[in-house]
Amino acid sequence: MTLRDKYEAVIGLEIHAQMKTATKIFCGCSTKFDSEPNANTCPVCLGLPGALPVLNRGVVEKAAWAAHALNLHIQPVSIFSRKNYFYPDLPKGYQISQFDRPFSLSGWVEIPTSERDEHGHPTEWKLKKFRIQRMHIEEDAGKSLHEGFADTAQHSYVNLNRSGVPLCEIVSEADFRSSWEAYDYVQYLRKALMWVDACDGNMEEGSLRCDANVSVRLRGATEFGTRTETKNLNSFKFIQRAIDYEIDRQIEVLESNSRVVQETRLWNEKEGRTFVMRSKEDAHDYRYFPEPDLPPLYFDFGKFTGLKEAMERTELPESRRRRLLETYGLSFDDAALLTSGREMGDFYEETVQASGNARAAANWISSELLARVKAEEIATSPVSPAALGEMIKLIDDGTISGKMAKEVFDQMFKTGKSAGELVKEMGGGQISDTTQLEAFADEIIAANPKQATDYRAGKVALLGFFVGQMMKATKGKGNPQLVNEILKQKLG
Ligand code: ADP
Ligand code: MG
Ligand code: ZN
Repeated sequence: MTLRDKYEAVIGLEIHAQMKTATKIFCGCSTKFDSEPNANTCPVCLGLPGALPVLNRGVVEKAAWAAHALNLHIQPVSIFSRKNYFYPDLPKGYQISQFDRPFSLSGWVEIPTSERDEHGHPTEWKLKKFRIQRMHIEEDAGKSLHEGFADTAQHSYVNLNRSGVPLCEIVSEADFRSSWEAYDYVQYLRKALMWVDACDGNMEEGSLRCDANVSVRLRGATEFGTRTETKNLNSFKFIQRAIDYEIDRQIEVLESNSRVVQETRLWNEKEGRTFVMRSKEDAHDYRYFPEPDLPPLYFDFGKFTGLKEAMERTELPESRRRRLLETYGLSFDDAALLTSGREMGDFYEETVQASGNARAAANWISSELLARVKAEEIATSPVSPAALGEMIKLIDDGTISGKMAKEVFDQMFKTGKSAGELVKEMGGGQISDTTQLEAFADEIIAANPKQATDYRAGKVALLGFFVGQMMKATKGKGNPQLVNEILKQKLG
């Protein structure tokens, strides 16, 4: 029995997702990512005395979509609270967040998850439900810069462009039992938020960050162990690796008869380990109190024309994945790929509509199309679903062979012409007229008497030679199946 079998990991995640709005949560400043430092600021987001916050309704709408994507219940009334702490990147001295009355409660996702083998390949996909405690709305803080300046040794700098950028904090229940479950959950969460256009999902730009709470306990124990919280994990790899590291570290602590200390830690990717940022001994007392400058948020679908209906029309990614899997008999991998984004799903289903062939649509998109177009840019593919569908139809009705189709597809891509046009330009589709093919076969056999004799004497591999001659004669357009049949019959 390994130590990993003796202990069980318990993990809960807090995810900060930036809501996709052009302006900040309480002022009109831009949320643009790469602006000049401190360019996107005003008295409100600088926290100057007397400046009053006004809630951006766009943020509420995006938060409602995020709640929808995660099956969270939006509360009719939620309250903004001040979370007080001192930090140079927080000039107000408090962050406006939500505390005891959050925007939404009690959500869940039910998604495929799998452990990975030593090569990182999934071992067995299983459906598992992960519960979500709450999701509240809050503002982001600014950013302290301790590196990258000539006088870095003496000074730190502050960029307040992020101050007041809208966030939703999504707090899970402690339902994950391995780092890969956490990984699969965050992957899905990112996809779902992007699917409903609530968040752009850009982790390098900080639009999605994760804090991982990790504890371990003896397998079979019912109480949770003492946890640590590893903060600000901004890539999937870091999330998975930091959790795994923490599990092993805590097991080691317990095995040496010590106690895990409740503390906040940071992941150091270079060293491949977490280290202490602060212990809970100096845990913050945030002295939360209701924000006096903002009224309670009364959420009412009636205030957002068409929002409820739009949500009801929107099939969420996991439902769509399962529907595609069942309706079209796709493989697990194809169904996952074809619902990796909403546009991808739309592209696929439109191609199925246009072609009447779900299998072929999946194959052409997953191989030929995605070899030429990035998955995220599928909506602007030069070959439209209708055009791809038309081409698949030409294969299915025998007008073109699979081999010709590859050439046609390539040309569709380069010229923007339709499959029909291209086939015409190429002098028509494949030759399926048996009389015509038989005439070619007779000519070729007559012109190659030695090979014909050898074939008949048992050198059957020579069939390939004759097929080649036929394709040459038909300029590659002989229906391959018929060509084979006719040759075998004439040579046999
Ligand atoms: P805090 O506000 O101090 O961060 P919360 O109780 O809100 O603490 O929990 C934050 C996250 O930590 C949640 O996802 C929760 O499920 C998780 N969590 C709480 N206790 C544990 C534990 N013992 N082990 C692992 N995760 C935990
Ligand atoms: Mg926390
Ligand atoms: Zn501002």
